[in-house]
Amino acid sequence: VNKTKIEWCDSTWNPVTGCLHGCEYCYARRIAERFGGTIQQADFKEKLHEINEPMYTENNMEKITKAPYPFCFAPTLHRYRLEDYKRNAKPKTIFVCSMADLFGEWVPDEWIKEVFRACEAAPQHRYLFLTKNPKRYIQLESKGILLKNENMWYGSTVTSTEDEYYAAGITHNIFLSIEPLLKPLKVGVGSFSSTSWIIIGAETGNRKDKIIPKKEWISEILEASEITHIPIFMKESLLPIVGEENMRREFPWDIKNDYRKENGD
Ligand code: SF4
Repeated sequence: VNKTKIEWCDSTWNPVTGCLHGCEYCYARRIAERFGGTIQQADFKEKLHEINEPMYTENNMEKITKAPYPFCFAPTLHRYRLEDYKRNAKPKTIFVCSMADLFGEWVPDEWIKEVFRACEAAPQHRYLFLTKNPKRYIQLESKGILLKNENMWYGSTVTSTEDEYYAAGITHNIFLSIEPLLKPLKVGVGSFSSTSWIIIGAETGNRKDKIIPKKEWISEILEASEITHIPIFMKESLLPIVGEENMRREFPWDIKNDYRKENGD
């Protein structure tokens, strides 16, 4: 369980880490490679790893601590982390697997079911998932595995028009994370019809070929979202592009609650 600098959640929880998509701009991989490894040399021959107990590493203060990424960025189920949120009574908005793609095609259904069971055991929290492979949501739905609880939110990452966000298909609490925005999306009326929330952000960090989005790219997304009044969350990285007066920080659950209050529900 970790506090986070991510602006749209209270904390992150990583019962699964690692990802095989290989995005060039991946910040998670850089962290995992920097802080990865264990005291006992980890075995990388296997593609997927499951560990029931923590492994240990020595930090630069020569202290022995739990290894957060024992197999660096190779997909790993840290089964001992599944119980983390059960004892935490205060409701939080939790980004699940910020250091993985839990819905990558290499992830076994069983891992996802284990994570879902842990979410169900702590229903006081709101759980946000994010994938670059939204067709997995459809596959899980057809197998009856996808949970449709009010507190579960399923996001897809979109960085360019080629991404498969139209394939999201399912209708339960869907959101889009358009981050980093790398190209104009060429969206129009109806593009986001099944979406309940949109997060937009620019690339951060100091990558050599870092892309700064144009203001028009953002305006096009806002126009396309207007027709169905989709809540928008703009990340701090957009501030220099759109200006303070145009920043929007909306959450769909707040809007739902406001609606309920107004209508006496
Ligand atoms: S999908 Fe996310 S975690 Fe996976 S490589 Fe791309 S940026 Fe990294």
